[in-house]
Amino acid sequence: MKRLLALTAAAFLALPLTPATASPAGTPGAPSAGDPYFPGQGNGGYDTRHYDLTLDYDPASGHLSGRAAISARATQALSRFNLDLADTLTVRSVTVDGRPASFTQSGSELVVTPARTLHDRRGFSVVVRYDGTPAHVLDPDGSMDGWIRTADGVYNANEPQGAITWYPGNHHMTDKATYRFTVTVPADRVAVANGDLVRRTSMGGRATYEWNVREHMASYLATVSIGTFDLTDRRVGRYRVTTAVDPQARGDATGFAERHPPVLDYFGELFGRYPYSSTGGIVDNAPEVGYALETQTRPLYPRVPSESLLAHELAHQWFGDSVTPTLWRDIWLNEGFATYAEWLWADKLGTRTVQAAFDEAYARPADDEFWQTPTADPGGPENLFHDPVYDRGAMTLHALRGATGDAAFFAILRAWAREHRYGNADTAAFIALAERVSGKDLGALFDAWLFKPGKPAL
Ligand SMILES: [Zn+2]
Repeated sequence: MKRLLALTAAAFLALPLTPATASPAGTPGAPSAGDPYFPGQGNGGYDTRHYDLTLDYDPASGHLSGRAAISARATQALSRFNLDLADTLTVRSVTVDGRPASFTQSGSELVVTPARTLHDRRGFSVVVRYDGTPAHVLDPDGSMDGWIRTADGVYNANEPQGAITWYPGNHHMTDKATYRFTVTVPADRVAVANGDLVRRTSMGGRATYEWNVREHMASYLATVSIGTFDLTDRRVGRYRVTTAVDPQARGDATGFAERHPPVLDYFGELFGRYPYSSTGGIVDNAPEVGYALETQTRPLYPRVPSESLLAHELAHQWFGDSVTPTLWRDIWLNEGFATYAEWLWADKLGTRTVQAAFDEAYARPADDEFWQTPTADPGGPENLFHDPVYDRGAMTLHALRGATGDAAFFAILRAWAREHRYGNADTAAFIALAERVSGKDLGALFDAWLFKPGKPAL
């Protein structure tokens, strides 16, 4: 997920790119990663390596104060650079390599001018202190995204652009990094994030939770969700399973932790080893949000998930989280794969065969609007989570499986997960891989399923 029900179009304006001006003292980093769907996202001139985020949150007032220590490496000589942060938060100070830096905030761009030019290919560190009352953003498709307040805390889901609402960073999925979260909340609340729980301490009616993310993560997959959760953290089977369940969540949460290993074991057989040091999920009571998200290692659900939703979000740990697209238009590499994994899991359980799932999706009449969206480019950010991305994406994989046979098909999926583990890859790379592994020319198949509008013939 996220898969939306009610959709409203929203105005979408491209941001102009500021041309860099050459100077012997370095040039400004680009204010954008250049993604046509979200031109404001990301920045150029550096790669982040690690985020150390220290947050203090008061759910009653909604006030957040934060310190973000970011380790990065310059990819050009930099006279200045941008971070992405919503201006609903106020930056109090910025240092670069320990020296005070000047800065301005404009929209979601935090422009930092270090006291000295940063050398190309050298590491540097940035510390940003900031505070304010975070507000979620409304996406082009009308859904809430980012720091979404709930009755008892925060439902923190950041796909595709919510990360700007709570911490400064290079917020495009191509710049992954490791993370450490240190989050202080009232002692009757829990702050649950990605990765491994390191410790919980409490003092003076406040509790501090520390989480460590060892594997590189795209910022849209980060979460710090806060609420009155029952937190469990233990070995189940071969996995460290960490769950946070809101006692008010809808659905039956009995055995939630135990539901993970069978799904992960099966996907491990099909896709290769589970890529992370821990797993689990966050089950909140957030009916107003209306979608789940595959937050890395620990998916976020607005209610207790069904078996197919659980399988969907766990499959994303391979497809989306570990192997992440390069541009948003390649989102079918996330959603088509996760939907196909839902079909595989239902087949394994004996609920419905993959073929029956394919047939049901394919039964849409040829003049249905559904068939007008090519899988590999849904056309714009307002269509990112429309049905064709999911169902036509999954059908594309099933058509590929039919053309290559099972052995080659699953070898392709395993090679995809292995060769691009913790990285980024695009549709062209998937096509090239599928042709290499299968030894077949698949141009016509992918052309019909991925790039051309209209219902592909069988
Ligand atoms: Zn999904």
